[in-house]
Amino acid sequence: MTIRFSDPVAQYEAHKTSIDAAIGRVLESGRYLSGGEVPAFEKEFANFIGVDHAVGVANGTDALELALRSCDVGQGDEVITVSHTAVATVAAIERVGATPVLVDVDPDFLTLDPQRLSEAVTDRTKAVIPVHLYGQPADMDAISEIARNAGLRVIEDCAQAHGATCHDRRVGSLGDVGCFSFYPTKNLGALGDAGMVVTRDERLAEEVRQLREYGWNSQRESIVVGGNSRMDEVQAAVLREKLKWLDDDNATRAKLAARYGKVLATTQFVLPCLRRGAQHVYHLYVVRTAARDDLLDHLKSHDVIGGVHYRQPVHWQQAYRDRLRIASGLLVTEQVAGEVLSLPIYPELDEKGFQQIVTALLSFYDGK
Ligand SMILES: *Cc1c(COP(=O)(O)O)cnc(C)c1O
Repeated sequence: MTIRFSDPVAQYEAHKTSIDAAIGRVLESGRYLSGGEVPAFEKEFANFIGVDHAVGVANGTDALELALRSCDVGQGDEVITVSHTAVATVAAIERVGATPVLVDVDPDFLTLDPQRLSEAVTDRTKAVIPVHLYGQPADMDAISEIARNAGLRVIEDCAQAHGATCHDRRVGSLGDVGCFSFYPTKNLGALGDAGMVVTRDERLAEEVRQLREYGWNSQRESIVVGGNSRMDEVQAAVLREKLKWLDDDNATRAKLAARYGKVLATTQFVLPCLRRGAQHVYHLYVVRTAARDDLLDHLKSHDVIGGVHYRQPVHWQQAYRDRLRIASGLLVTEQVAGEVLSLPIYPELDEKGFQQIVTALLSFYDGK
């Protein structure tokens, strides 16, 4: 049996009855957009995160873009983030016309290095986007303090960290705005595209609400220049069902991660570091080794398909190469790009599958 690093079909099959019922409910209602499912999901998700406002949008990239716009970030402004992330983080900054300023990650946690953040701040810096990469919260204590002193908005990229916590507070509730993606493979995944902006600030929420639908006010008059970034009712209905299992699913991921940790403790792989006071939700279980590409091939020969997040940091990619500012050397970023490998981890991974992966991993150094 082939095992991939994520398996959305397994999740559908595990909860087929309630997902099918949720979809059926929407199909029969005749309200495929702007019905009751999106507002209900917004309320439930806001509760889950621990904020007052959640605004459903079409995808995670739009969530970031609209969050930036709601914070008045645009032409001439700089936004600091990392290069070791999904390209979407940087794409959103580009789309609002601001200049992405990319800084290095911390060598242990692979999230934004606060020291590099403070070095990169200029009088044009308007916001910082910490990415809670792989499911592990960034160093929000240090980042928040630097942002407060420099007057920066903090926009959290939570696309990989639904449910993760810092000092028992969920990511998304720690900065000014939190942005989520419900891409099918994420910890909370839709059956297509969907995203969410969460905030405690009513004014920012209202702004995002206008921007996501033609700049409309409640009278359906366009009072700002907006676009269309609606979440559809089918996705909201499915996500409402899946939200009920998210904490359990994350706990199962954590158990699998702990087992990987135990099994791999004696190997030469560098294992994920856990931040004190934070709870990792293991969107990905990423190990590091200089022999990454050989390990990928070896796993493949055992029918195990690993992933690489990410092979090319954003500042190496053709579209972005000349359009951003690199604040200082990105030494850690460039090194880990050659070392990171994502092992299969998802709540439905069964014992047989897990053993197949472990056998493949432990035989890697045999005969070398
Ligand atoms: C998935 C992801 C996004 C983008 O979300 P989409 O829904 O695909 O637009 C943004 N940032 C990070 C870190 C992601 O993993």
